Amino acid sequence: MEAYFDNSATTRPCEAVRAAVNHGMTEAWYNPSALYKPAMNVQQEMDAARRECLHALHADGRRLIFTSCGTEADNIALLGHLRTVRKPGKVLILNIEHPAVLQCIPEILRLGHKVEEIPVDRNGIADLTALETMMDGSVVQISLMQVNNETGAVQPVRTVAEMRNRLCPEAAIHVDGVQGYLRVPFDFSHSGIQSYAFSGHKIHALKGTGGLICSEKLKLNPVIFGGGQEEGYRSGTENIPGILALGAAVKAYDPESNVNMRRLKLLLLDKLREAVPNLTVNGPDPADEQSAPHILNVTLRPVRSQTMLFALEGDGVFVSAGSACASRKQKISPVLKSMGLSTEEADCALRFSLCPYTTEDEVMWAATCVEKHYNLLKKYVRR
Ligand code: PLP
Repeated sequence: MEAYFDNSATTRPCEAVRAAVNHGMTEAWYNPSALYKPAMNVQQEMDAARRECLHALHADGRRLIFTSCGTEADNIALLGHLRTVRKPGKVLILNIEHPAVLQCIPEILRLGHKVEEIPVDRNGIADLTALETMMDGSVVQISLMQVNNETGAVQPVRTVAEMRNRLCPEAAIHVDGVQGYLRVPFDFSHSGIQSYAFSGHKIHALKGTGGLICSEKLKLNPVIFGGGQEEGYRSGTENIPGILALGAAVKAYDPESNVNMRRLKLLLLDKLREAVPNLTVNGPDPADEQSAPHILNVTLRPVRSQTMLFALEGDGVFVSAGSACASRKQKISPVLKSMGLSTEEADCALRFSLCPYTTEDEVMWAATCVEKHYNLLKKYVRR
C-alpha cells in the first residue's frame, strides 16, 4: 500500500485538473492576446479561472496576477512593491518564512531598506509583544505567512493588520498563503492585507503555476519586463493549461474536506501517541484553529527523522523531515530551531501532511509502520 503524507511538498493533480490541462492543450491553446474568436474564448476562460481563484479568498474584483509559482508571487509582492518605495524604511519579516521570502532579504537590503526579523514563540506563532516594539512610522512592509509549511502554525494575520493600522499605517502587509490557500479560511477583503501569494501544486493543480492577489491600492513595479501581459505586472505569454488547471482545482475543492482532514490528522496523532508514548508535537495544539488541518509535525525521540523516513519509505509511506519543498539540504530545520527546539528534538522531527484525498486506511497504515520501525530503531540509537 502507498500512503503519501507529503502534501505540503506537493500534491497529486486531481481529475478536474487533468481534464482542464487536456482542454488547454487540445482546444484552448490559442494566444489569449490575439484578436480572433478562438483566442478571445481562451481569454474568457482565463478570466473565469481568475474569478474562481479570487472568489475562494473572498477577493472578488481584486487584482490577481498569475505567476509561474508561489516563489515568484512572493518575489513580486516584496521586491515589486519595495521598488516603488522611494524613502528607505524598515521591512519586518517573520523569521520562519519560507526561503521564497527569506531569500529576498539581500535584495531588499540592496534597495536600501533595513530588515528586522519577527521572532516566534515555542508554538511557532509570531511573538506579538516583540512585534509591537518593532512597529513604528519607518516600517514600509511586513511579511507574515498564513500557515507555516513545517508545523502548520496559523499566523495571527488579522491582529497584525490591526496593529499595523495603529502603529505604522503606511506599511503594506504581504501574506505568503502557499500552505493556507483553500485549507484555512481567509477573507482577503476584510483582512487588511495588501497582497497574498498562492501556488498551484499545493492544491492539486500544476507545478509551475501560482498567483498574487493584491489590493487595488498596492503600488507594484514589475519584476519581469516584456509584452505587458497581466496588466504589465507579469509579462510573458500566459500558461493557459496551468491557469485553467488552477481554476479547475479551486472549483473542485470542497471546503468541507478540511473538516475531514483535521479528523484524520487527529486520528493519526492518537495512533502515533499509542506507538510512541514520548512523542511531542511541534507547533500549536493540533485540535486548535491555530494549527492548520493538514500538517502534523512530531518528534519521535530518539529515532532520527532521516532514519525513520527511509524506513517508512520501504513500506510505501512517504513523509518528510522538516521541509522538503525548498531543497535536499540536510540541515537542522531553522524553523524548529527558531521555536526553541534542541538539536536532538529538531533532528527527530517528522512532518506528515495530508490532503482531501487522504484516507483512514492510509492513516492506520502509516501509524502501524511507524510503530514497527520505532520499536526496532530505538534500540540502535547511539547515546
Ligand atoms: N511559500 C511556502 C510557505 C511554501 O511552502 C512554498 C513551497 O513549498 C513556497 C512558498 C514556494 O512555492 P512554489 O513551490 O510554488 O514556488
